[in-house]
This record gives sequence, structure tokens and C-alpha cells, in this order.
Amino acid sequence: MPKRLISPFRISADQPELVRSQISALARQVPILYVILILNVLLTAIMHIGVAPLWLSVLLPFPIIVIGVMRSISWVKLRDKVLPHDVAVQRLRSTVYLSGVLGAVLCGWALALFTYADSMMRLHSAFFVSMTVIPCIFSLTHLRAAALLTAIVALFPALVFFSFAGEPVLLAIMANFLVVILAMLRVLWVHSGEFESLIQAQEQLIKRQQVTQRLSDQNFRLANLDTLTDLPNRRAFFLQAQAMVTSHKTDNLRFAVAVIDLDGFKGINDCHGHGAGDEILVHVARRLETLPTDEVFSARLGGDEFALLVTGAIDETALNDLGLRICRMLGQKYHLSRVDATISASVGFAMCPDAGVDAERLLENADYALMHAKQNRRGAPVLFNADLGDEMRRLSLIDQHLRNAALERELTIVLQPIIYSDSGALRGHEVLARWRSSELGQVPPMQFIRAAERSEMIHQVTLVLLRKTLALLETLPKGASLSFNLSARDVASPETVLQILKLVRASKVEPKALTFEITETAFMVDFRQASDVLNLLRNLGCRVALDDFGSGYSSLSYVHRLPLDAIKIDRSFVLEVESSEVSRGIVKTIVDLCRNLKLQCVVEGVETAGQVATLRELGCDAMQGFYFAEPFAPDAIDWSAEPAAKPTVA
Ligand code: C2E
Ligand code: CA
Ligand code: CA
Repeated sequence: MPKRLISPFRISADQPELVRSQISALARQVPILYVILILNVLLTAIMHIGVAPLWLSVLLPFPIIVIGVMRSISWVKLRDKVLPHDVAVQRLRSTVYLSGVLGAVLCGWALALFTYADSMMRLHSAFFVSMTVIPCIFSLTHLRAAALLTAIVALFPALVFFSFAGEPVLLAIMANFLVVILAMLRVLWVHSGEFESLIQAQEQLIKRQQVTQRLSDQNFRLANLDTLTDLPNRRAFFLQAQAMVTSHKTDNLRFAVAVIDLDGFKGINDCHGHGAGDEILVHVARRLETLPTDEVFSARLGGDEFALLVTGAIDETALNDLGLRICRMLGQKYHLSRVDATISASVGFAMCPDAGVDAERLLENADYALMHAKQNRRGAPVLFNADLGDEMRRLSLIDQHLRNAALERELTIVLQPIIYSDSGALRGHEVLARWRSSELGQVPPMQFIRAAERSEMIHQVTLVLLRKTLALLETLPKGASLSFNLSARDVASPETVLQILKLVRASKVEPKALTFEITETAFMVDFRQASDVLNLLRNLGCRVALDDFGSGYSSLSYVHRLPLDAIKIDRSFVLEVESSEVSRGIVKTIVDLCRNLKLQCVVEGVETAGQVATLRELGCDAMQGFYFAEPFAPDAIDWSAEPAAKPTVA
């Protein structure tokens, strides 16, 4: 048979969406079709009981009715179901076959009855055929093949039969009916074509929507996810934090913001390259993801700074436990592709509403708590509280006054001697800053230096102090030496470093009489920059000491790579040097390291004779502390006299 004739009866399997829509349309319409069919068959059969033989009036219609009932039930069951594609195609095909078979059987049945009927009943038979075919075509509109087949197998034999039946009325009915059916088939043809196009258009629309969705998902990822770690980024963090602030206002949600900073990350980045640094960040992200996600939202704010939003049952103890867990978790060894590395983490928390009711304030306060953790409680979390709030307010007050202060007049320097352990001779003095604010009075250096560091005022402060130090050193006798403190911020600022070099060069001071004390933190911020600065100062002829050694991320491993003259052991070790084996062990290790690297080892914060004895035993080269002298004004000593140290040291 030519292809063109067969094609309208084909069920194509390559349009899944069309098949799905056909099934769903048929599931709604076919049961109605069967109800009509069953009623028509029932009525016609009853009309012919006693007129036609039993097999025609009862035995044949009975299975047709049973099949009708079963099929309509099975279609009703399909209403809310999505069939697998191949099963659905099979279903459509079986529907086409069945429509052909049923159409032929029903038409044959009607024609068979015809021979037993009187003229009225014949009229009814003709009526039965037409009244069955019309709803069939209607109900099967979405399955063109089935509608066409039914029309052909039922109608055309009937037409031929009635044409030869010799009854003009029947002939006329059939002629009318033929016209109606042809018109209906035409409508069906157009309608089913439109239905197919509609489904295809819908399918394309869905595909386009999927593409748009993919693009918008991609955009969302780019806008909200950190590309390196796949964690939510700063933007996503703020969106989430703002949503939580809203929930706090409406539903009294309690939550906390945590900020995490990695201590020693810079060192890894500088020593092992950015690849290793990136790897660590990814590992950190994965470790943070192991926290319960229903209570902790983790994000990377940038660099080595991560932040969390914590909900659930949060109180001081719970946050402290979580903070310790994070510190422990992030402190475990990292197996990177080329090296193994260890870093530590500091965590600062700020709870809503205690520490603020807006996202920026909470983050700022968590940041402050983090800074506090880094300075005072390394490896332990800190929760922002009222005391820290007071401290923060005090720092901003100091900052405001510092900006308007007459620095040249209000900043002064004091000196604290550094003594050789063995001889008790004077090694030099450390220069310490003092500020008497016209409005706030005397402000401790721990406070105003920190405030200045937070606001970048530190550079001005440093330069004023250095000018004063150089001016003093110019007046001191030959052989005198001063140690000057540089802030990590100064070291990180190329302009300030240039100004420092310029000031030293412009002075009449012999560079070797000047030692710069640089804290470990400077190397944590940017190792390469800090060691470059160290080299510049050394090339100028100045000396360099590593200050507060051991208080921060103290890695003995990088010390040998720095061109240092001395290491100053942090006061915290001295406090316990008599009572704690651990402290003694640490001091001994640092002393040995200094011996190996030919560096001087200075211990600061020495307060008692007992400490002096122990530290001398441990082999420290020089000491500094209240035991020898508290810081004093430069004009308080007679520089022309022989520099002397306390005799007790000898
Ligand atoms: P630092 O550099 O560790 O200075 C030593 C601090 O220890 C000084 O405190 C000093 O007075 C104190 N100190 C000395 N001996 C003892 C002791 O036996 N016991 C105790 N408990 N403390 C002792 P100060 O002058 O209050 O300075 C505190 C910190 O402020 C300094 O610590 C330094 O970090 C910073 N600072 C002071 N002056 C300057 C400066 O000119 N520039 C910079 N950048 N920072 C400075
Ligand atoms: Ca110092
Ligand atoms: Ca120090």
C-alpha cells in the first residue's frame, strides 16, 4: 500500500510530548465514548430481542458491552498517571486497532440486524450507525488514526449496504450523514494537525524555557557562588543574612553570624604557591560543609575569610562548642597534591539581636570578636559581648580623637632598656609610644595603636614617632642604640616603607644604631612583602628584630628564610617560665634556633629575679622588663654617664 495512504494511521514514537498529551486527552474522552457506545448497543440489542436471533440480539452485544466497560475503566485509571513512553505508544496503537475492530464489528452487527427488522427498526439501525460514528470521531479527535479508521470501517460498508437496500429515505439519511461525516473528518483533520502543532510548539517552548532556566541557573551560580570553592559568596551571604534579619523581626528568629579567619594561610600561599593556597580553601569549604546544613549556612566572603549564619538552639555554650569544633576541624592536617599543610583557624561570633539587628552590624561585630580571638585567644572562639562592644566604642572614640589630634605635640616616646643577660650591660632601648590626648588624657598604646591600625592613621603615627626617635638618636652618644616598633600595617604599605627609608637616610643617625621591631603578624599578612621590607631595611644598614615571637602563628620554619638580627620572645612565655615545663621547652627551642641561625635572642616582660635566673639558664642573650626598668622619658637619664644596668643581673 502506498506510504501516503498508510501514514495517517501511523503512531509515531518520536514525539514523546505528543504521545503523552494524546494519552491524557483520550483518558478524558474515551470513557464517555464507551458510555455512549454501550448505551447505543444496549438499546439496539433490546429493540431486537425476539426479532433477531438470540446470538445477534444478546450473545454478540454482550461481549462488546463487557469489552466497553473494561476499556473505559482502564482509561479512567490512566487519568492521573504518566505512562512510560513505550507503554504509551503501545496503548495508542492498541487503541487504533481496537477502534478498527470494534467499528467493523459494530457496523457488521448493525447491518446483520437490518435484515431482521421492519422499516422503523431499519431506520433505527441507520440511526444507530450514524449516532455511534459521530461521537467516535469527536472522542477520538486527538488520535486521528483511530477516528479515521472508525469512520472508514463503520461508515463505508454501511453506506454501500444502505445504498443497495432500496429504501429512498434510508438513502437520503445516509447521503446527509455522509456529508456530515466528511465535513467532520475535514474538521478533525485540521484540528488534529493543530493539536500536533500546538504540542510541538509547547515542546519547543519547554525546551526554550529549559535553556533559559539553565542560563539563569548559571547566572545565579556566578552571582551567588564563589567560583573556587562553590560555597555561597559574599553577596549570597548578605542576602541570606538579610532574610534572617527579617525573620528575626517577624518571627523572633535567633541566629548568629560567625566569621572565620585562617591563621597561617598566607604562609602556605607564599611558601607553596597560590595553587596550594587554593587547594586549602577548597578543603576548608568542604570541611565547613560537614556542619549540619539545616543549622549552618556557610559562605566564603573572600580571601581566606569565611562566614557562617547559625540558627537552631544557640546560646553562648552552643556557639562556643561550635567554634571549638570548627577550630579543631580546620586545624587538622591538609593533604594537598604536593605537600601536607597545617593551619589554624580563629572564629568570632555575633548573635542577633544582642550584637545588632542588621547584617552589616552583625558582621562587623563578629569581625571584631574575630580580631579579639586572634589577639587574645588563638584557636578559641570569641563571642561578641557587651565588654567587646564597649571596647569597640572606645576604639572608635580614640580613633576620632586621634584624627583630630596634634600628633607632633601630643605623641611622645619613652624608652625601656634592654640588658645583656650575661654581663648585665646595656644593649639598647626600646622606643615605646605615648599619647596624651588633649581631650581623653593619657591613652594606653595598646588602645591607640590598635585604633590607628584599624583606621590607617597608623602610618602618620609611625612617621611622627620615627622622626622623634631619629631626632633623639642624633643627640645620643655614639654606641647608643634604639629599637623602634613598626606596625604590620606599616610593613604592608609601600608608601610608608618609602617614607621610613627616606627619613632614616635624611637623618644623621648611623643606621646600625637603629633596630626595627616587626611583629610576626606582618609576615602572616603578606610574607613576601614583609621579607622584602626586611631586606630594604637591612640594606640600609639598620637591624631587624622579630617581635612578639610565639604569640601568633609561630612557625619556626620560616625564620631561617628571613634576614633577621634578633628574635624577641613574647612576654606570655616569660610569665610561666618558672612554673611551666612547656613554656621552658618553647623558650629553649627558640634559644637553640637563634643559636643555629646566629641571631640574638631577647626576652621581654621579665618581672622577677626568678625569671631572670631561669632565662639566663636557658641561654637567652638579652632581657627587657619591669624587673630592670619601666619605660621612662628620654630626658630622665643622663646619657653622658656610663650606660649602666642593674647589678643584680651580673
Ligand atoms: P611591645 O612592642 O611588645 O612592647 C612592649 C610592651 O611591654 C610595652 O608596653 C612595655 O611597656 C611592656 N613591658 C615591658 N616590660 C614589661 C614587663 O616586665 N611586664 C609587663 N607586663 N609589661 C612590660 P606598652 O608601652 O604599653 O606598649 C604596648 C604595645 O603597644 C607594644 O608592645 C607595641 O605592640 C605597641 N606599641 C608601643 N609603642 C609602639 C610604637 O611606637 N609603634 C608601634 N607600632 N607599636 C607600639
Ligand atoms: Ca616591641
Ligand atoms: Ca614585643
